[in-house]
Amino acid sequence: MPIFHAKCSCGALSLEVDGDPLHNHICTCRRCQRASGSALSHNVWFREENVRVVSGDYSVWYPQGESTADVMKAFCRICGGGGFSKSGAYFPGSVVIAGGTFADPSFPAPDHVHWWNSRPHWIDLAEAIQRHADE
Ligand SMILES: [Zn+2]
Ligand SMILES: [Zn+2]
Repeated sequence: MPIFHAKCSCGALSLEVDGDPLHNHICTCRRCQRASGSALSHNVWFREENVRVVSGDYSVWYPQGESTADVMKAFCRICGGGGFSKSGAYFPGSVVIAGGTFADPSFPAPDHVHWWNSRPHWIDLAEAIQRHADE
């Protein structure tokens, strides 16, 4: 089973994952652009029991306004990076980790992209990545 290591920008918050991704996609919706501060987000789901926080403290935000442990976004308390989250009913029992926090060029490629029609006009992706318009 592969072991992947994720880190925030300052390095304080680090995660370790064993097991392959359950789901691996890119999203170019406007909400993800704001959340990631980037043109797209790379979201990778793993089984919750395969993810360990190795070091660091994190702050938690509840996007739906309720403090529900299974729908939250977590960020390094020092630098605000290294985000991971839980998406509740969308994918129960899983943790989502931002693909960029692995900073690993050999990390498994996403197989599809959501909200392709909302992408910035200059974005293109490999043909193998299946495109969903989501409109
Ligand atoms: Zn940090
Ligand atoms: Zn999105």
